[in-house]
Amino acid sequence: MAILDENLVKAAGYLAKWAETGVLNHIGGRSVEAASGARFDTNSPIDGVALGAVARGAAADVDAAASAAKAAFPAWAAVPGAQRREILHRIADAIEARAEEIAFTECMDTGQALKFMGKAALRGAQNFRFYADKAPEARDGKSMYGPGQMNVSSRVPLGPVGIITPWNTPFMLSTWKIAPALAAGCTVVHKPAELSPLSAKLLVEIAEEAGLPPGVWNLVNGFGEEAGRALCEHPDLKAIAFIGESATGKLIVAQGASTLKRVHLELGGKNPVIVFADSDLDRAADAAVFMIYSLNGERCTSSSRLLVEASVYDDFTARVAEKAARIKVGHPLDPDTVIGPLIGAEHEAKVLSYIEKARAEGATIAAGGQKVGAAGHFVQPTLFTNASNDMGVAREEIFGPVLTAISFSDEAEALEVANDTDYGLAAYLWTRDVTRAMRMTDALQAGMIWVNSENLRHLPAPFGGAKASGIGRDGGDYSFEFYMETKNVAFATGAHRIPKLGG
Ligand code: NAD
Repeated sequence: MAILDENLVKAAGYLAKWAETGVLNHIGGRSVEAASGARFDTNSPIDGVALGAVARGAAADVDAAASAAKAAFPAWAAVPGAQRREILHRIADAIEARAEEIAFTECMDTGQALKFMGKAALRGAQNFRFYADKAPEARDGKSMYGPGQMNVSSRVPLGPVGIITPWNTPFMLSTWKIAPALAAGCTVVHKPAELSPLSAKLLVEIAEEAGLPPGVWNLVNGFGEEAGRALCEHPDLKAIAFIGESATGKLIVAQGASTLKRVHLELGGKNPVIVFADSDLDRAADAAVFMIYSLNGERCTSSSRLLVEASVYDDFTARVAEKAARIKVGHPLDPDTVIGPLIGAEHEAKVLSYIEKARAEGATIAAGGQKVGAAGHFVQPTLFTNASNDMGVAREEIFGPVLTAISFSDEAEALEVANDTDYGLAAYLWTRDVTRAMRMTDALQAGMIWVNSENLRHLPAPFGGAKASGIGRDGGDYSFEFYMETKNVAFATGAHRIPKLGG
């Protein structure tokens, strides 16, 4: 049997339970229907088939989940860091033990290729291990010596928090947000995206089977404007960690205002990859292709604007076009597939509309530009050349396998074009001139810059964006700064003079 056929049989086995049980909410350690009894379908982006009926959570369900998280908080916050470390490592072990199920489920629910999702569970487990090892130091602070005073700071977990995640790579992103919250001592109410909810339910079940006490991690499925909004407005949730679109990020802030919610926003991007003529063009081409066509281009750090020095523009874009044309678009469970179907009909229509827009604006379609097949939401890896930074395809986040190439004549122009965007998440720079790299990285407006590299994550390093790409940073200790409150205690070290008022 071909590998794809074998994988399809395995996937059917893994998915069967969702058709039977539905995709329920998870509150206080129990799988529960929505209070209203309402459900909605989650459909495969491959062929539109319903994978399971999902509990449609709303305000009442968020209230129940927040109550469970609030009740579980004092005990979880009091668990010593070393013990939390053990539990989080056990969760990582359990994730690894079910790596294939997680990968196949993610492929079928999101349309992402197994080539990348095969590692999703391991990456998720790594996130848990990293924060497991940091749990014992989460409460650490500083001591600061002042005249007549010794200041000692420490950190305390914020309380129950809400976490809202998007549909593109839900398993990895959920672990990335939830692991540090648990390591910090917070309890969680998670709302995954309505378009790909399966792996979030797997994840909470795995965590409890591995020994996480009930109520510490709760899950409410549902739509953004119902369940998501209720999370932002709930008075018992002390913070919202959000990953999603910039437009939604603005709503999160507004909805959280009346309860003074602490918010962390990881939003969209329109990230430049800047290629100077002196760079290693082979490596730069591989990296540029990887960063836009992996994960279906549905990735916040995708290098969606390719800025190339004029003297090598034709040669470099021809290389990218050749590679794009050779990329396999197909079933996500085929091990050779790079690009699977986009998440749904609406998103496919959005991506295809940009291809029309590019044509109308006068860009050249140097690769791709077509839908593939009649069923599913498959779109060819696409490259626009002869583009300028004022075109819609250079300004708006397309979130698909679509790359816009623009030429520049010198460093100043490269910088101007790179920064001429509402976004500021990531930038990629290719040059062998270290002094130029220093000048450019100093002036680029982005939260994360990779020089001579694709996006290679180092978990202790800060992750996050500037401008419309977000507020706050994840990674290493930065996540604890968000999930914890810093408390400072000042001890008088002597009998200093106290102002005497009123005699
Ligand atoms: P989205 O903003 O539409 O939805 C994200 C989540 O927010 C979903 O769970 C959704 O149900 C919820 N939501 C929607 N409206 C809401 C509301 N009014 N109140 C509360 N919650 C609400 O984003 P998406 O389409 O699911 O994901 C794609 C976006 O995510 C892209 O813009 C991408 O760049 C971004 N993203 C950013 C990062 C990052 O780290 N910066 C990572 C991955 C994805």
